Amino acid sequence: MAKIKVDHTKCTGCRSCELICSLHHIDNTFNPKRARIKVYIDGEHHYPVIAGPYTDAECTAKNTVIIAGHEYDECELCRASCPAKPVFKEPGEEIPLKCDFCGDPPDPQCIKVCVTEALTLIEDTEDKEDKEDKEDKEDKEG
Ligand code: SF4
Ligand code: SF4
Repeated sequence: MAKIKVDHTKCTGCRSCELICSLHHIDNTFNPKRARIKVYIDGEHHYPVIAGPYTDAECTAKNTVIIAGHEYDECELCRASCPAKPVFKEPGEEIPLKCDFCGDPPDPQCIKVCVTEALTLIEDTEDKEDKEDKEDKEDKEG
């Protein structure tokens, strides 16, 4: 299974990914609030966050995330569309937004505009290895 790898150290905070995501999903609309990716900007640090699954309740186990010595509220970098967060929802409608890899097969538009390669499409080898292990086990069990 493919997934998008994020290397925040390469992100310049240009936010082109947010714009192309909204344009691709809604005709003639360049609106970052309608994008399924959000670039969280903290001074000179930029963290692209891609919208993940919807959760219907705020989680109760919040942690602090430390990146390069900087402390962040986990909510800022969380991928979920959650009732407690204003992002990853269709403005005014509260409909959750989730990354769809821009189709099937995957054709992520955000990767196409990310010239620094902060976003790249990779194969999820962990999923593949898990599947192969499971198949091996099933073969041995006959
Ligand atoms: S397009 Fe790439 S470099 Fe620009 S904000 Fe998005 S992830 Fe960062
Ligand atoms: S893969 Fe498509 S839907 Fe997902 S964040 Fe990128 S542009 Fe948006």
